[in-house]
Amino acid sequence: MFDIAIIGAGPAGASAALFAAKAGKKTVVIDSDKGMTKRAWVENHYGVTEISGPDLIETGKSQAKKFGAEVLEDAATNVEKTEGGFKIETENKGTLEAKHVIFATGISVDLAEKLGVNTKPGTEPRIKTVLDANADGRTNVAGAWAAGTCAGVSVHTIITAGDGAKVAINVISELNGERYVDHDVLKPKE
Ligand SMILES: Cc1cc2nc3c(=O)[nH]c(=O)nc-3n(C[C@H](O)[C@H](O)[C@H](O)COP(=O)(O)OP(=O)(O)OC[C@H]3O[C@@H](n4cnc5c(N)ncnc54)[C@H](O)[C@@H]3O)c2cc1C
Repeated sequence: MFDIAIIGAGPAGASAALFAAKAGKKTVVIDSDKGMTKRAWVENHYGVTEISGPDLIETGKSQAKKFGAEVLEDAATNVEKTEGGFKIETENKGTLEAKHVIFATGISVDLAEKLGVNTKPGTEPRIKTVLDANADGRTNVAGAWAAGTCAGVSVHTIITAGDGAKVAINVISELNGERYVDHDVLKPKE
């Protein structure tokens, strides 16, 4: 049983995964590699002068892996509520279980909708429908969260990545029973 399963490894999902794994949570990310960031060239991401979308995604996934997240290249085909959390079916890699699930599925909301997550009209250009998540990222289904484009935030990598981190911090805090912060301190010069 994973603590946190994340569906989608674009900026929102990979950022959530790296926070979750770095916090010591057993984390899995399932990604079908069909996101919009694959087509982007980015020059407005704070701290990064310029980067291609594919490079940003690869860096995000390898950061998540570095802290122990399992990254599955596959499509999630169904998510079902169980007594202890969720059962997630994938196209090629079988079924897995997790206590919490974070939808970070970009423009796609069908999978979460099938689980019973409420949707609402999107406000951002070209985003028709989003998941109805509150400011914390919680949806109407207990334990199911939404982050990034599918949660209706502004469609920019710095914002979707930040939203993924925010939602992960909220899930980690809930699992820990207290607010969580991840601050590494500058190492002294040798
Ligand atoms: C042409 C173009 C240019 C852009 N240029 C910029 C720019 O210059 N600056 C900027 O800030 N932003 C830019 N963007 C926007 C940027 O790409 C998005 O804001 C942001 O990356 C969206 O992140 P996300 O994680 O929400 O979604 P995505 O990056 O779309 O990631 C969603 C992921 O979920 C996966 N997924 C979906 N459903 C499933 C499923 N059932 N199972 C498994 N995986 C699933 C997808 O395969 C995908 O990998 C651009 C976008 C486009 C299209």
